[in-house]
Amino acid sequence: MTASNAPEDPETLTFEATVERGGGEVVLSETYFYPAGGGQPADRGTLAGYDVLDAQTENGVVVHHIDGELDADTTVTGEIDAEFRRYCMRAHTASHALYGAGRQLFEELGYGGFDITPEKVRVDFRTPTEIDDDTLVDLETLVNRCVWESRDVTWERLPREEALSREDVAFNTKTEEGIESETVRIVEIDGWDAAACGGTHVPNTRRIGPVTVLDRSNPGEGLTRVEFAVGPPGVERRTTEKQAALASARILETNVDSLTEEVDRLRTERDTLREEREDLRSELLEYRIESIAADAFDRDGRRWAAGVVDADANALSAAVRECPDDLDVLVLATPNGQLAVGSGPLDAGEVVAELTETFGGGGGGSPDVAQAGGLDADGAAVVEHLRGQ
Ligand SMILES: [Zn+2]
Repeated sequence: MTASNAPEDPETLTFEATVERGGGEVVLSETYFYPAGGGQPADRGTLAGYDVLDAQTENGVVVHHIDGELDADTTVTGEIDAEFRRYCMRAHTASHALYGAGRQLFEELGYGGFDITPEKVRVDFRTPTEIDDDTLVDLETLVNRCVWESRDVTWERLPREEALSREDVAFNTKTEEGIESETVRIVEIDGWDAAACGGTHVPNTRRIGPVTVLDRSNPGEGLTRVEFAVGPPGVERRTTEKQAALASARILETNVDSLTEEVDRLRTERDTLREEREDLRSELLEYRIESIAADAFDRDGRRWAAGVVDADANALSAAVRECPDDLDVLVLATPNGQLAVGSGPLDAGEVVAELTETFGGGGGGSPDVAQAGGLDADGAAVVEHLRGQ
């Protein structure tokens, strides 16, 4: 035998065959096990009661890797895991439906491959169109429409040249098997999509069931990867999303339909409040500096003012830069060991150096404005030190 019967006859799940090559890596006279290939995983199941661990095409024949050994020339029964096969057929056909949906949405579309895992399926689109959140929703809507419309899915082998000349057929030139052979297998969703494909498919799109688009990513090479789920994993995702939407709506005391509007309104409100808070903070800082300046003192014949303020490093520097004219030096310190110094006649950097020598930490700056951080003392101790001399 040469190839699996599975793609042509995906409904046969129990069969008898003669063992042509015995041992643990079995070759049969014919098989309905689908060998891993083209993005579809190998069928699971049993052969003469032994688990089939893997099925691969090796040198043109299907090799069944089993959990045991079989004798050559015996007749054995093969049983394909119906649930997993059904999942693969649905997932695989869904990938064609998704690609067909992409044909309606994207410009200059090319096929970049696909892959099925038990949780999700991915399809790689080659397109310059940006696939954003809205596009993902459109893709999902279209795929599910294709399912609902119950379109027939058919497959046939065409002579290679005829298949390649059909412009409506999607080829994956990187991985598609059969391009080299004399005939090419074309899988068609009636009025929706046609692709060169060697996998197993359901005969009608309604048998795909609900499709949930999960996410997109960029694997490189100009491809956009779209991930989706069929069956329980897809339904589970929708459940999670629905629960999140309902819970959010409940917290915001609105309904799901108004959720976006309400979140948008709250974000605007937050931004406005944030701005107001910043304005009030700087106003407060100004008042605080005014009262610090009003409490100025003499130190070595210069007019100093020093006080504790609760502000971040940027606000501190900005504040001392605006040192009032009747002061020679303004020192602002925070409760958590940061300070800034502004001065006209003195070198602010030297003042900072003197203070960090006494209180630890480090800093520097220009003669006009300098700052320090990591002091071992709080701001009050620094102010007391300056006033005490
Ligand atoms: Zn296919």
